[in-house]
Amino acid sequence: MFKKILIANRGEIALRIIYACRELGIKTVAVYSEADENSLHVRFADEDVCIGPARSADSYLSVPAILSAAEITGADAIHPGYGFLSESAYLAEVCEACHIRFIGPAPNVIRLLGDKARARRAMKKAGVPILPGSDGPVDSEEKAVKIARELGLPVIIKAVAGGGGRGMRVIREMGELSKALKTAQREAEASFGVGDVYIEKYLENPRHIEFQILGDHHGNVIHLGERECSIQRRHQKLLEEGPSIAVTEKQRRRLGSTVVDAARAVQYTNAGTFEFLMDDKGNFFFLEVNTRVQVEHPVTEWITGIDIVKEQIRVAAGERLSFKQGDVTFNGHAIECRVNAEDPVTFQPSPGVIHAFSVPGGPGVRVDTFAHAECTIPPYYDSMIAKIIVHGRDRQEAIARMRRTLEMTVIEGIKTSIPLHLKILSDPDFIAGRFSTSFMERYLVEQKKPGDGRLAQAG
Ligand code: ADP
Repeated sequence: MFKKILIANRGEIALRIIYACRELGIKTVAVYSEADENSLHVRFADEDVCIGPARSADSYLSVPAILSAAEITGADAIHPGYGFLSESAYLAEVCEACHIRFIGPAPNVIRLLGDKARARRAMKKAGVPILPGSDGPVDSEEKAVKIARELGLPVIIKAVAGGGGRGMRVIREMGELSKALKTAQREAEASFGVGDVYIEKYLENPRHIEFQILGDHHGNVIHLGERECSIQRRHQKLLEEGPSIAVTEKQRRRLGSTVVDAARAVQYTNAGTFEFLMDDKGNFFFLEVNTRVQVEHPVTEWITGIDIVKEQIRVAAGERLSFKQGDVTFNGHAIECRVNAEDPVTFQPSPGVIHAFSVPGGPGVRVDTFAHAECTIPPYYDSMIAKIIVHGRDRQEAIARMRRTLEMTVIEGIKTSIPLHLKILSDPDFIAGRFSTSFMERYLVEQKKPGDGRLAQAG
């Protein structure tokens, strides 16, 4: 087992990794930017190293700075968390060269799955259903028009290196295609450093369903069931839950075993998530694989009782998964709300000093956060400041529990997305489980109708 792990991240996920390391008796090294000097992850790590100024490019995204910190402190492994360098095949390669274990899949697996066009091909070969679309990147207008005609509108243009819901363009009229292709390529180049884009069929009103998997270095791969993440704004998740109300036991078993076979086919190790869209007939289509721990992993931890971060560390150290597929059972229902420092009406970021911070406890409540009273939320990073996760015997109890938790949460000094979450949690369609990825879009249009200032008041 490792003696010391460097955590190449910040915020709640850095703390989450510290929790796992402490329980496993492993020392930790925090890295931080100048803006995070007083952050809790720095306070609770055994050692800490400042790796640069506030700007992510100069600190949390700097491979040389992180590697130097690992060398100086003698860390024998790096946990990248999510975001930042978590899906960097380059960091994984450099770690290998420096004999430091990267807690994630092998570099070639990260590279294969990080290219969404290549991942589609690999999944098709492994028998996973994919959406009809281009066979690789689309580099010319003629090719784009030909594919769009074959698929039939609407289609969606996506960056092969895409992530975080950015750089996608839905095409509903042929006339839009040429301009959208150029803009998408330009945006992809600017955001991800790779301008390649691909085209796939656009599904109207699908549900976003994803499967959590874990693999060790002894050929064992298991799945931990699904999470539903259809409540999104601009393709970014706001609220996640598990199990999905739309997935039957039979579908779970069938898709779960397809995903496990596909993960084996690409020699997947460590934690990963296979994302799918589900249409209204119950058909699943592969979207992408995230080769890291996800923000919403606590949902799965709660319904399965499995500590995903500890398993990540154990399998990276060469141990076998501590359970078999047959040991995995699903208990009750879990919901996670992402609390963002932002205006719940305009969605403008709301960084600043938090003057009061209190989240209630009670049965079935888990709070993963780096925030506390008198802490400063810097403007440089993702706006998520806390994840509130609840567990109930069933979905109804989980919804009631989340509502009372959010109603009794006190965060003063900055604005948060809590009023928006409360509205979602009391929406009749949400409560009935009648929703898709377009739920929020429709919901926000409704809220803007004249004479309906409910959300504005709540904000
Ligand atoms: P990213 O890696 O940027 O998160 P994904 O491919 O995972 O991108 O897609 C994110 C979200 O975008 C999905 O959850 C869904 O809401 C929407 N989306 C992506 N592809 C399609 C599609 N072909 N049809 C309909 N919605 C899509």
